[in-house]
Amino acid sequence: CGIVGVLGSHEASPILVEALKRLEYRGYDSAGIATVNGGTLDRRRAVGKLVNLSDLLVHEPLPGKSGIGHTRWATHGAPTVVNAHPHKAGPVAVVHNGIIENFRQLRAELAELGLGTESDTDTETVALLVQHHLRAGLSPQGAAEATLGRLEGAFALCLLFEGEEDLLIAARRGSPLAIGHGEGEMFVGSDAIALAPMTNRITYLEDGDWAVLTRHSAQIMDAEGHAVERPVKTVNIDL
Ligand code: GLU
Repeated sequence: CGIVGVLGSHEASPILVEALKRLEYRGYDSAGIATVNGGTLDRRRAVGKLVNLSDLLVHEPLPGKSGIGHTRWATHGAPTVVNAHPHKAGPVAVVHNGIIENFRQLRAELAELGLGTESDTDTETVALLVQHHLRAGLSPQGAAEATLGRLEGAFALCLLFEGEEDLLIAARRGSPLAIGHGEGEMFVGSDAIALAPMTNRITYLEDGDWAVLTRHSAQIMDAEGHAVERPVKTVNIDL
């Protein structure tokens, strides 16, 4: 329901949780974050209010300056920890808003490849598809593009990769998604409100866009894969 992403210069988990708090107004049943720290991609997830995730992070901190976060409003699969986002498959983690309409077909194809799901969500098929394409030798960007080409439905996504501390891939089809430009930092959010404490320089992705983000660059492609320019707007929101 709510998505955030951070390529920061400070520890990501408090920033992610703060941004998720600003998305609470959308409603949610569970929440989670993932970070990359050196070669390690790890996550923490909790059912219920964000305070449950914060409490978990006190006991099991999640170091790293790059990460993604999510507040979930379950559409496929009960609100449990296993179904909470981020979903992870090997070296990739994904947060997702909306619905992957063809997930049953994708799940059947993945099962034939020996890639089974552990959750009941539509989202996990996205992580597994990206993992499959990475194993086949594609780059993170190539794997994301190949995966996006297979997805049907209305959604927003953000992907985080093991061993890639300066990379986020975001995509928007149907659900809104914004990029926030910091000083040597880059952010992703469902809306500018989530990003207001970090930056007021916002690029709204257009429908079908996807973006390859580093701390210093935002490369945006349209649905056909052509590089496109989207304006950076100043969006002032009262904190
Ligand atoms: N369809 C996904 C799920 O049920 C995402 C729901 C949402 O937008 O939070 O996990």
